[in-house]
Amino acid sequence: MTAATILQVALPVPRGESYDYLAPADQVLGPGQRVRVPFGSRRLTGMVVGVVTESAVPVSRLRPVLEVLDDAPLVDADWLELLRFAARYYQTPLGLAIATALPGRLRRGRGARPVSTRRWQLTASGRAQSPDELGRAPRQAAALAALQSGPLPAAEMGPEGCPSPVIRALRDKGWIEEAGAEATASAPPASSDLTPEQTQAVETVATQIRQAGFVPCLLDGVTGSGKTEVYLELARRQLAAGRQSLLLVPEIGLTPQMIRRVRDGTGARVVALHSGLAEGERHNAWLAARDGSADIVLGTRSAVFVPLARPGLIIVDEEHDGSFKQQDGMRYHARDLAVRRAQMSSLPVLLGSATPSLETLNNAQSGRYTHLGLGERFGGVQMPRVRIVDLRGQRCPDGLSNQLIASVSEQLRAGNQVLLFLNRRGYSPVILCGACGWSAHCQRCDARLISHRRSHSLRCHHCGHQRPLPAQCPDCQAPELIPLGQGTERVEARAAALWPDVARLRLDRDVLQRRGELEAALARIENGEVQLLIGTQMLAKGHDFPKLTLVGIVDADQGLYGQDFRAAEHLAQLVTQVAGRAGRRAQRGEVILQTHNPDHPLLREMDPGRYGRVAASLLAERRAMGWPPFTRLALVRAEAPQPGPAEQALAEVLASVPGAPELDRLGPVPAVMERRGGRYQFQLLLRCNNWRRLQAQLSLIRQHLEQRPSARQIRWSIDVDPQFMD
Ligand code: ADP
Ligand code: ZN
Ligand code: ZN
Repeated sequence: MTAATILQVALPVPRGESYDYLAPADQVLGPGQRVRVPFGSRRLTGMVVGVVTESAVPVSRLRPVLEVLDDAPLVDADWLELLRFAARYYQTPLGLAIATALPGRLRRGRGARPVSTRRWQLTASGRAQSPDELGRAPRQAAALAALQSGPLPAAEMGPEGCPSPVIRALRDKGWIEEAGAEATASAPPASSDLTPEQTQAVETVATQIRQAGFVPCLLDGVTGSGKTEVYLELARRQLAAGRQSLLLVPEIGLTPQMIRRVRDGTGARVVALHSGLAEGERHNAWLAARDGSADIVLGTRSAVFVPLARPGLIIVDEEHDGSFKQQDGMRYHARDLAVRRAQMSSLPVLLGSATPSLETLNNAQSGRYTHLGLGERFGGVQMPRVRIVDLRGQRCPDGLSNQLIASVSEQLRAGNQVLLFLNRRGYSPVILCGACGWSAHCQRCDARLISHRRSHSLRCHHCGHQRPLPAQCPDCQAPELIPLGQGTERVEARAAALWPDVARLRLDRDVLQRRGELEAALARIENGEVQLLIGTQMLAKGHDFPKLTLVGIVDADQGLYGQDFRAAEHLAQLVTQVAGRAGRRAQRGEVILQTHNPDHPLLREMDPGRYGRVAASLLAERRAMGWPPFTRLALVRAEAPQPGPAEQALAEVLASVPGAPELDRLGPVPAVMERRGGRYQFQLLLRCNNWRRLQAQLSLIRQHLEQRPSARQIRWSIDVDPQFMD
């Protein structure tokens, strides 16, 4: 009698590495193939991760696989190795990690074939149809309803997608038509002559690539120094050698402009992978990367998991950016995984930034990474000058000092562009009754409500709660409520009064609701249609605005006294990046920093050409205090509708899981915002200088939490290398 073949299947369920099933008798399966299996009373899609002949469960009790979804492995052994690492490191069940890494269609078990990405749109008569009247043709009705919001591929017309016969019927009725396809013709590469500095960076990397497989590098280049040109040259060389490049960029950086720049600059077949794509497009891009029909993959965070047929190089642009860290589910850091992936597959990896994270900077300074520098802006452009404006003793309720107003006026008169930066949406963060002291608080969070004038509402920026802006004090009926502090709306209102004839644009999440709107706005800025910009960090990053000469940082104190040990680092990065938008062409730019703390050492040192100096002193501080990168951290969070159970769950962790030498366990303490969205948040901070010891501790904690009875009301999570400590 031959032994049974048992498949270890990773499933998207909250615990367990994999589950055992009987292999079909007539088919040989291997790791990387997807199968459909029974799980309790459900059927789930999972991936075979191992084939064995013995199981801890008696063979007679094993259930057979219901369906084999892939004739050949969907992914290779390297990919599974990366996922195993990620799952272990981020304390996530392997099946959930795999589900995080796969695009939607594949996660749900659909075939690994490209899908049609033809998009359909409503015709005039299609718009005139009321979906409600199509009662007997529900799929047609669903398709028409879905198309109200704009062109879509068939797969997204309705909850289940729209089958071809229905598409045909709608088209024959003249209700829908094919939307214009995007041209993808690619011109021969417009190669630029590199500067000596850029050439040196490229050659250093190229030489190292020839000598070793895993080559981690930091490209530490001031804003406007042409880091992108270095990426493009390296990608062109990979292309010439027949290898693919993966370029990871922050959420906000993946604009059509960027895609065009990469496509035109390399002449390569480029695909993009980001959350704004239609599902079918993402599916196709993923397959093109896997099959090698794409040469360059340009993607956000989750693209770190894209399989590559002929991998050659991984680049992470703006590596310090917070959007590389996933904040729910598997809380992975795409930059860190990119480095790990490069190491596992013996690839070069290039991390680029004008404001490198202290982690990366430390790796470069200690010699683990090659440290490449671009110290000058392209074209000999000078770094902007910084001027500090002391707000003490000035009354400027709308946030703009006389000095700032004068400078803005001067630049506008000269025909230049100006950016007023403020990282807070809405009109004012506090609204107060001058008579009785009432102020507006969220009932579900420990937070104030922000007033929004345009929508006449009070809103909580933490839980989304919203109510009408009261006309008078709800407590004492005094007729006037005083707005304190500023948001972008208020600065804009003041700007409108000061410079009524200047074309202006406010950019924050309140104005930009739909994808595509940011791109349109950026185009208007680039071609000079607007002169005055008011915006949040959306405008702070990466963009290249040729006509911008002045940046006003309305509130530099924001973030100066954050409780997070990374607050100072984030402030230095933000100020340097915002300042880096100014004066990127012939004229030297200026940055005006408004503050109530003109003598604060961090602000005094703030010079966008000298981020390295600030970073060095912050690193010294971290070392002295025992914070990362000199130690490793993990946060165990628990939340519940009442304060007691969450805190108690974490106290039980401490009582049941033995500690380890040189491992600090701090807490449980309430989170900075204890009540959020009606739930109480507590956390336990773990700190250790040995990450393996920390991992072992986390595994024990996870086991304890998974086995804990009555875990119902409590939600918990483990955040390894947390980026935000709230
Ligand atoms: P960074 O990403 O370092 O902020 P960019 O790559 O956006 O800088 O470069 C800033 C500007 O300088 C861009 O307009 C870019 O086209 C231009 N530039 C940089 N290097 C070169 C070069 N070698 N030849 C021509 N233009 C360059
Ligand atoms: Zn009152
Ligand atoms: Zn709230």
